[in-house]
This record gives sequence, structure tokens and C-alpha cells, in this order.
Amino acid sequence: MNRRNFVKLSSLSLLPILACGPQGKKEEEVFSLKIHSDMRTGHLVRDSFNWPEVESEKTELLVVGAGIAGLSAAANAPTKDLLVCELSDRIGGSSGSETYQGLQFCQGAHYDLVYPNYFGKDCLNFFEKLNIIQFNGQTKLWEYTDKQYLIDTSFESQCFSGGAFRSDVLPEGEEVKMFLDFMDQHIGNFMLPSRAIPKNMRALNQIDFLSYLNKNITLSPGFVRAIDYQMIDDFSGEAHQVSALAGMYYYANRPYRTNEIEVFSPPQGNFYFANKIATEIDNSQILLKHLVKQIKPLKKGFEVLVADVSQQKVKKILAKHVIYAGQKHALKYIFPEEYPAFENIKYAPWLVVNYVLKENSLTEGHWQNEMVMNNQAFLGFIDSDAQHQKGDKRVLTAYFCFPEWQRKNLANLDRTGQQIALQTAEKIGWYFGLRPEQFVPMVEKVFIKAMGHAMPIPVPGYLFNDHNINRKHKNLAFAGVDNGRLPLLLEAVDSGLCAVNEIFGSIS
Ligand SMILES: Cc1cc2nc3c(=O)[nH]c(=O)nc-3n(C[C@H](O)[C@H](O)[C@H](O)COP(=O)(O)OP(=O)(O)OC[C@H]3O[C@@H](n4cnc5c(N)ncnc54)[C@H](O)[C@@H]3O)c2cc1C
Repeated sequence: MNRRNFVKLSSLSLLPILACGPQGKKEEEVFSLKIHSDMRTGHLVRDSFNWPEVESEKTELLVVGAGIAGLSAAANAPTKDLLVCELSDRIGGSSGSETYQGLQFCQGAHYDLVYPNYFGKDCLNFFEKLNIIQFNGQTKLWEYTDKQYLIDTSFESQCFSGGAFRSDVLPEGEEVKMFLDFMDQHIGNFMLPSRAIPKNMRALNQIDFLSYLNKNITLSPGFVRAIDYQMIDDFSGEAHQVSALAGMYYYANRPYRTNEIEVFSPPQGNFYFANKIATEIDNSQILLKHLVKQIKPLKKGFEVLVADVSQQKVKKILAKHVIYAGQKHALKYIFPEEYPAFENIKYAPWLVVNYVLKENSLTEGHWQNEMVMNNQAFLGFIDSDAQHQKGDKRVLTAYFCFPEWQRKNLANLDRTGQQIALQTAEKIGWYFGLRPEQFVPMVEKVFIKAMGHAMPIPVPGYLFNDHNINRKHKNLAFAGVDNGRLPLLLEAVDSGLCAVNEIFGSIS
């Protein structure tokens, strides 16, 4: 660490986390830092206007986006004549990962839980085929086959609030008992994919979670703050912003109090699933750094303009069918005629900050470290120490969920990255009882990933709007959690399977 730079940057540390650094001035460098941001896409599109167009290719199916939804669609398509175009240099989307000196760690979605037997069979069968899960007749749960990635319950999570630790985000006492008793009455009604949720529960999609809770139980402001934290953590909005259906799903989707619900969290997070799904697709068919910038309907099929970022060329691809599994806000530019169906979706920006430590001199860690702070955007961090890679370097992965209006500030990371890394390090240091000047020298490298449209917020009215129903072209279908789904792994998988079904009639 350069001490002079550290002191200069520290003086900025009381600013809000995304406050702009000094205009036009390069930041002082405290950390060796690598930034990965999807906020640079706009520049790419503009640059690509000057790139030459190359001869057209033909494909039966073009999939836009290699997130979990796009990969699931490609893996289940009945044709092998397909291409998956992904604008990033890696697959996974919001379930992505990063590597450093052979070490792999998560930069987005980081876990899932064992699946009850009342969850939809299509996704479970697909995961069984990939040897990800197997049914346990005794527990009646679909359990993970890679047992080494199950999190030891004694190191599962710890909550830090008001300078003190407690075992759970929801404060202990009578209130939590009453709250969870209320939730338990609903277990079995909230499953994934959400399209399987019974019709009689769907009125909950029309009201916000806080209003619904207030109608049924009395909660103190401190308890509501804890619920807000959990709603932001999973759904990017507070209890008064997300639907009651999303909230009830969160607390009542599995029999948490009667069964042991195992947490599955490999060091690379849900990139594990992306990677497994991708084994079903020929590598040469996944085109990385390929940005789909325009889709034009033809008499039969589509003309798709794709910017090949490495070659700085624009490819014209004639596709008989398209599955659009990219975020839908960009349809405005890519395929404007379908944009109105999606224009009301609210997307939350997220930021992930990974700290690779030089050596593991910190105390033994918990997997999930939930930090309920005054700054609502900062949620805490995941500690690889609890992810069964003993002996490897330790990686601490911090998460921020910002309100929509802060998205534009994520575009300044080249100017503010060091400051964000330092402020986040201060918070993590505090958690471990260390001052910044003690914690910062322990850090070898920092990685920041910014996702401007990281996930759709399930506000009242959002769920169950499958825009495939009224789509304009039968041979273009939509996939992704932002097609009226909860922002969760199985929803992304199921949306891919459904898109294949929409186009080809049956899942292979
Ligand atoms: C920080 C964070 C943590 C999360 N944690 C969890 C978790 O622990 N568990 C869980 O179940 N879920 C979690 N989620 C939710 C997660 O978003 C979903 O589980 C799932 O990964 C969404 O997949 P998707 O394919 O629908 O969308 P995305 O992951 O957004 O994939 C869309 C893909 O399309 C690509 N793309 C977009 N436009 C274009 C274009 N024009 N051309 C080419 N490519 C394009 C993007 O680059 C991206 O790769 C988390 C989300 C975030 C942001």
C-alpha cells in the first residue's frame, strides 16, 4: 500500500459510496484493482457504427445472452444448429465469476438451496440430467451431488448490526416467533418456478409486502428494518416496494423450521450452474464478446446485427428463430417494436467488490456476513473461508444494491473505484475489529463488477406477466428473469426451457 495515497483517499471516505471523485482527475491508487462493468456497452454500440460489416451467416436458432436463461435455452433446444451471442468476455451474466492466479470466485449470484419435491419438475429433471441434484427418498428433497460445496451450518451466517453481532438478521424474541408462525401456515404454496404458484395465491402479487404484513400482524420498526434488509438482499427493494407474493415466497418457500435446508455455495457461486449447463452446448457455438445490436424481422426469420468486439466487425446473422435472453431494457434499441411490453420493468443496479487477501490471517469466517447498516446499499460480504477451499487464498466478496437513480454513478468507476474499494474495506475491517490501516495491507488485489441492470425488482403487479403470450413474432421468444419472474436461479432456468417450448413446441 502507498501510505500517502491511502491517507488522501481516506479523507474521501465519509462521502456517500457512489459519490463522484474529483472531476477529470485520476484517483490515487491504494489497491491493485480490476473493474468489470456492463455500463460500457453504450460506448461499444457507438464504436461499432464505424466497424465494417462482414458476410452473413445462417443459423436456425440465435440465442441472445449467455446468462443462466440463455444457456438453459440453448442446452434444451431440439436443434444443434444454433449460436449463443454474449456481449461479455465470459458466460454467466449475473451468475458470473472471476479468476485470479487459478483461484475462482463469485461475482454475482452465489448460492441456492436444496429443492423440495413440490417444486416444478422441468427444472429439477434438467438438473438431475446434469448430475447437479438427486432425489433423496428419505428427506423427500432434491439434494446436491457435489457435497463439498454444502455450507457447514455452524459457519453459515452471522449478522452485524449497530456494532454488535447476532445470529440472524431477524432479531430474536417473541416477535420473530409470531412472524415465522404466520409464514409457516403458507409453506407449500410458494414454489419455483413461480408460474406453478396456485392461482388463489396470486392476489398477493397486486399488493406490497409491508401493507400485507400490516394487515395480518403487528411488527416493530426495528423488525421491519430487518425484513427490508432481507427483501433488498434477494429482491432489490424494501418491503413496501416488493409485492407480497415475493415477500411470502422468501419466507415460506421451504420448510425452514422443520427440515434441514442445505445451502449450496461453491466458491465460484452460481457460475457453477452456468458452467454445468454450458457443457450441453458445443463451445464453438458460444460467441463471447458478441453484442447483439439490432434484430430486424424478415419474411421468414430475422436479420440480426452482431458486433464482434474482438475483431471489431459487425456480423449479419440470418436466424430462423431467436430466443432473446438479454436484459429487456435494451430492446428499446435492439428490437423497438417489442420494447413497450417491457418498458415498466424496474431494474436495480448492483455492485460486487471482491478482496483477494494475501494470506489467511483473519479469524475463522462465516459464509454469509449480513451487515445491517445505516447505508442501506451495502449488504455485507461472503467469506470464502467457509466455502471449503482451505489452503487457497481467502476471498471476501461484498455486495451493494443501489436504488435505480444511482445507476448513472456506476459509470464513473474508473474515477471512483479506488474510493469504493477503500470505503468497503473500512466496513469489512470494522466487522473483523480492524482499523483500515490494519485491514488494507492484507489485501492483494481487488475486483469490482458493476451491473447496471442487475435484476428486475418484483414490484406489485410484476410477476406472472409472461410477455411471450402477446409477442409479435411466433419465432422470437423471450427468456430471462425479467420476463415476469422472480430474480432467482430456477426462474432463469425455467424461462429458458419455456422459451424453447414457445418456439419448438416441446422440450427435447
Ligand atoms: C449480485 C446478484 C446476486 C444474486 N444472487 C443470487 C443468488 O444467490 N441466488 C439466486 O438464485 N439468484 C441470485 N441472483 C439473481 C440472478 O440474477 C438470477 O439467478 C440469474 O442469474 C439471472 O439469469 P438471467 O439469464 O435471467 O439474466 P442475466 O444473468 O442478466 O443474463 C443476461 C445475459 O445477457 C447478456 N446480454 C444482454 N444483452 C445482450 C446483447 N445485446 N447481446 C449479447 N448479450 C447480451 C448479458 O451480458 C448477460 O450475460 C443474484 C443477482 C445479482 C445481480
